[in-house]
Amino acid sequence: MIFKMSIQHIMLGATLLLMSCGGKSSAGATSDTLPAENGALATATFSADSAYSYLAKQVEFGPRVPNTEAHKMAGDWLVAQLNRHGAKVTEQKVDLTAFDGTVLHARNIFGQINPEASKRILLLAHYDCRPWADQDPDHSKRKTPVDGANDGASGVAVILETARQLKASNSNLGVDFLFVDAEDWGTDGDDESWAMGARYFAENPPISGYTPSYAILLDMVGGKDAVFPREYFSQQNAGQLNDAFWAAAHKAGHANRFPNTMGGAVTDDHVELLKAGIPAIDIIEYNSGSGFNPNWHTTTDNLDNISKETLGAVGESLMQFLSAQK
Ligand SMILES: [Zn+2]
Repeated sequence: MIFKMSIQHIMLGATLLLMSCGGKSSAGATSDTLPAENGALATATFSADSAYSYLAKQVEFGPRVPNTEAHKMAGDWLVAQLNRHGAKVTEQKVDLTAFDGTVLHARNIFGQINPEASKRILLLAHYDCRPWADQDPDHSKRKTPVDGANDGASGVAVILETARQLKASNSNLGVDFLFVDAEDWGTDGDDESWAMGARYFAENPPISGYTPSYAILLDMVGGKDAVFPREYFSQQNAGQLNDAFWAAAHKAGHANRFPNTMGGAVTDDHVELLKAGIPAIDIIEYNSGSGFNPNWHTTTDNLDNISKETLGAVGESLMQFLSAQK
């Protein structure tokens, strides 16, 4: 999916984002994202078991690589799940040409609850899988598609469980769910080759004039013993949203998972939203010293390396955050 930028790229990227976002986006992520005084509502519950089953179901389809049957079936299933959780679903289908010339028949899946609410909170994750395990220590496996249990399915699973909880609690929050496609067909050294689905969404919103108040991206949120420092672009461009999320995580009892340290810069779907002026943060397991989860882009990104505890910690933090929103 993503990769760490060189220092040179970080500087260029940061300058570009700050310029393109201007003062507008940072102003959008101010007081309304801060936790309320008595924030803990009944909605702040989350089932890690349920999230795990949503994750396992995606893996069961097989690697959700664009242009495969597994990808299509997973997409259909996601649409059905969002419908089941009471969301109004819009599918955005588009052919996108990857860096290697492959035409990807992509589909972004977008669902809204309480669409009449004017304030919109966007939760997103990518659901496609990387076609090649090009980080696998065994060179003979580097052309094998990844299961994407963590890289893809975990973020989707936490969002689906969040959608289920919001429906169960009759929440009146205006929450949007976005499962983006074609994130992970990228190549090293070419920023534009990643996050193609998110870029298309940001440049062509499926609803005219759609501008969420802010967005939270979940990516690789199911690894064993995962720790989530703050991601660089998120902090630079939506620092107050990061503050609010980390405060909620601490309030939910997960300070050990969400240290107030910087993890590094990651090219991911949130960057496309930031470019469009939408305050967006990336919750991702990326540490400055150790990098991504060791199973990243390998054939061992599978169910054996998923932790229900991690899914629960992220999900409870997210529900805590949402319970403080109005
Ligand atoms: Zn990836």
